[in-house]
Amino acid sequence: MQVLSVTPEIFPLIKTGGLADVAGALPVALAGLGVATRSLVPGYPAVMSALKKNRAVHQYASLQGGKAALVAAEVAGLDLLVLDAPHLFDRPGGPYGDATGADWQDNWKRFAALGRVGADIAAGVVSGYKPDIVHAHDWQSAMTLAYMRYGEAANVPSVMTVHNLAFQGQFAASIFAGLGLPQQAMALDGVEYYGGVGFLKAGLQAASAITTVSPTYAQEIRTPAFGMGLDGLLNLRAPELHGIVNGIDVDIWNPETDRHLAATYSASSLKERKTNKGAIEERMVLDRDEGPIYCVVSRLTWQKGIDILTSILDPVVASGARLAILGSGDAGLEGALLAAAARHRGRVGVVIGYDEGLSHLLQGGADGILIPSRFEPCGLTQLYGLRYGCVPIVARTGGLADTIIDANEAAVSAGVATGFQFAPENAGAFHHAILRANALYADPADWTSLQRQGMKADVSWDRSARKYAALYRTLIAKRAA
Ligand code: ADP
Repeated sequence: MQVLSVTPEIFPLIKTGGLADVAGALPVALAGLGVATRSLVPGYPAVMSALKKNRAVHQYASLQGGKAALVAAEVAGLDLLVLDAPHLFDRPGGPYGDATGADWQDNWKRFAALGRVGADIAAGVVSGYKPDIVHAHDWQSAMTLAYMRYGEAANVPSVMTVHNLAFQGQFAASIFAGLGLPQQAMALDGVEYYGGVGFLKAGLQAASAITTVSPTYAQEIRTPAFGMGLDGLLNLRAPELHGIVNGIDVDIWNPETDRHLAATYSASSLKERKTNKGAIEERMVLDRDEGPIYCVVSRLTWQKGIDILTSILDPVVASGARLAILGSGDAGLEGALLAAAARHRGRVGVVIGYDEGLSHLLQGGADGILIPSRFEPCGLTQLYGLRYGCVPIVARTGGLADTIIDANEAAVSAGVATGFQFAPENAGAFHHAILRANALYADPADWTSLQRQGMKADVSWDRSARKYAALYRTLIAKRAA
């Protein structure tokens, strides 16, 4: 089976969040199940510079205002089709905006171009290649499915995966003329969205099946509170809506071999984590003592509930816990965290920035990881936490609800608990969960068994990849029938 995956990010080449991890890891996991994936990605500078041997497989004299080429290459075991369109993608800054974080004004053109090319590939422009399924990730790839629907690849089955419904790709109606779609597409059941054009909405409407990254989030987004304007459409499409939890790359995230750690370890040598804890204390300028360190590895945004953490930070520090926080994002939240670090020298360490290596060290040495998200489609950091014996303390929402078993009395005595859950968006409940963690931490035998139980959880891609493969097969069979 041949799958064309269309994605705006792919690990290890370009990453701003969990989507990149998924797009990078799923092809590898699917390969073991007889599913071959080619990934179409934009030719950002970081992607172009990673290409060694490559060959042009299709040329565009004009694509959204400039020349473009489609280039085939293999990088890091990934079979890539790269859209080399310098006028759209060769620029400094991030994949969606400049260095200050402001969105590129022409994002609609950039990701309409990606979609157009995805649909062209589905229709067979790359000679010798015809995907059986097209799988689009998030709004940046969603127009692929709209171009397919109104073009030559209307009968190729497709999957639209929503990694985060908060990002929708909404634009003014005036861009419609620049999309090159037939006029009939500007309709309620097409690309039209609240009077403008909605890229994700268009993909959700056109896809044969919709997936999101956890069963709980798949239910939540059908409600007005989580649906972000799309709950009506998602309810209409409920029979085609599936929740499949993400896995993680268990080779990259392996405490037994992780080169970012000061000391590697396994479930039977958890004492080695002390060396990593010491390295964290040094790196984040924290006092040395026997109490717990809880880490945060996160985008610093409203979604992630970082303001809820800052609201209880003083009493958490007073309870004896230390905090090691790595993240970047909203200036206000960054400032609040830096102020907290200044207020609690030696008790709160804050690193503002993106640091893959430090994120591994934190998982490998901190005692717990705090994830107070208001909503969380799947979440990856709690899965890394499970694998590293860094006990997740999470809001009970989305994928966090689906992947962590709360250490209540029954779960602890049955030996199945893997972390702590609390009611989302509730500072008191969050504080209480941290106090519960402190109490369990004080009993080394209980804490170690909680860590070991988490490390036993299957967080690999195996199960999830089987679910995607099964979905692909169902869609192909339906189309053939
Ligand atoms: P989201 O995709 O919403 O940001 P996820 O939990 O799904 O949240 O994925 C976040 C990914 O980004 C994880 O791999 C996490 O380790 C990583 N990450 C987030 N912030 C940082 C940071 N400041 N430095 C290093 N890695 C980070």
